[in-house]
Amino acid sequence: MYNVKSKNATEFINDEEILETLAYAKENKSNRELIESLIERAKDCKGLTHKEAAVLLECDLEDENEKIFKLSKKIKQNFYGNRIVMFAPLYLSNYCVNGCVYCPYHYKNKHISRKKLSQEDIKREVIALQDMGHKRLALETGEDPVNNPIEYVLESIKTIYSIKHKNGSIRRVNVNIAATTVENYKKLKDAGIGTYILFQETYNKKNYEELHPTGPKHDYAYHTEAMDRAMDGGIDDVGIGVLFGLNLYRYDFVGLLMHAEHLEAAKGVGPHTISVPRIRPADDIDPETFSNAISDDVFAKIVAVLRIAVPYTGMIISTRESQSTRERVLELGVSQVSGASCTSVGGYSEKEDEEDNSAQFEVNDNRTLDEIVNWLMELGYIPSFCTACYREGRTGDRFMSLVKAGQIANCCQPNALMTLKEYLEDYASEDTIKKGELLIAKEIEKIPSERVREVVKTHLKEMKDGKRDFRF
Ligand code: SF4
Ligand code: SF4
Repeated sequence: MYNVKSKNATEFINDEEILETLAYAKENKSNRELIESLIERAKDCKGLTHKEAAVLLECDLEDENEKIFKLSKKIKQNFYGNRIVMFAPLYLSNYCVNGCVYCPYHYKNKHISRKKLSQEDIKREVIALQDMGHKRLALETGEDPVNNPIEYVLESIKTIYSIKHKNGSIRRVNVNIAATTVENYKKLKDAGIGTYILFQETYNKKNYEELHPTGPKHDYAYHTEAMDRAMDGGIDDVGIGVLFGLNLYRYDFVGLLMHAEHLEAAKGVGPHTISVPRIRPADDIDPETFSNAISDDVFAKIVAVLRIAVPYTGMIISTRESQSTRERVLELGVSQVSGASCTSVGGYSEKEDEEDNSAQFEVNDNRTLDEIVNWLMELGYIPSFCTACYREGRTGDRFMSLVKAGQIANCCQPNALMTLKEYLEDYASEDTIKKGELLIAKEIEKIPSERVREVVKTHLKEMKDGKRDFRF
């Protein structure tokens, strides 16, 4: 039975409820009156239920779909302004005991190069990332209690935070590791992580079990209930996501929203972020795995309806997607992008050759961070290296109440301008500096509070004199 507050995965992600929702959405895909009323109500930026969002996703009326896209753009602008937060993944180890059929790190893959970074290697990687200008990382590692125990992850986080190279520093480490115990989540919390990220891959239990035939990840309930345990362990910012294309996308879309509703109902805080990765070709992966791959148009619609359904949740897109796809979904709802990512272990400090490949998936957007920053500014966005909220204690429900009140943009805008200025001072190319300075001069005048505007102006001057790390 469906129960949004239940502790049991199959009750809060209830198969029957999803199937009924999908049938309801199909029945109403041309129901203009209902669709218009949903769009109208969503304008209050309070979100929609999984059932309502499913109807908008299914809507086949062209003019109403245009209204949906228009509304998602408006909500994106209201909540997040035009800042786009930058991050990079850091792969610590690709040892893994699981048998996920879509990932080249599965334990049966004998021709991928297996690597694990030592603390010295991590230093080199972090310096390479700092030298590009990154301030925010997402740690990635396979599941392997012998090679990648929690102690290794904790030590690595400590190392990362300790490195200060030139003006560089990593100020927020988000962590994407396998589902674990409340006790281990407590340890991650104490290590000062930002968001704990774990993708569900698919919410369809039967498919999930087939896609994860062996290893601890096979346990659907343990995996699906991980965020509840993470929150019990004191982590209040969690990031969810599915790998679109593993299962039928409509099912996973509804599951994703039910998961968000569950966390809000049971723990009082919805997910901090939602990631929208699409499956990509990789080493030793059967092309049959991609038979449910989704088109660019469907992908754009998913992003738009998610933006409308959960306006207060950040949305992340990686370099799995091409420049043009990223461009399209940025305006529809995405608020965070990775840049200059390397999906192999140790690849930032040392380029791998073909025989030595340890990459998790093929990157589609291969541009440098400077090229991405430059491109974002051309599109009218403010690339932001901000990490302020977590460092100012704005996490969990404190953060959510600010977002829901539409007030977070008051912090995002000045922080984006100041962290962009840091980037320009320390890492940018000549052309990027030129564009950046113009952008800052224009955007600073848009800060509504005169007091904040003046403080930002003072800090920008101080940065010229070598000072760093200002934030609201
Ligand atoms: Fe291991 Fe994660 Fe890849 Fe599965 S998806 S094989 S758990 S690294
Ligand atoms: Fe993110 Fe907070 Fe910075 Fe805004 S102010 S960009 S929400 S960390």
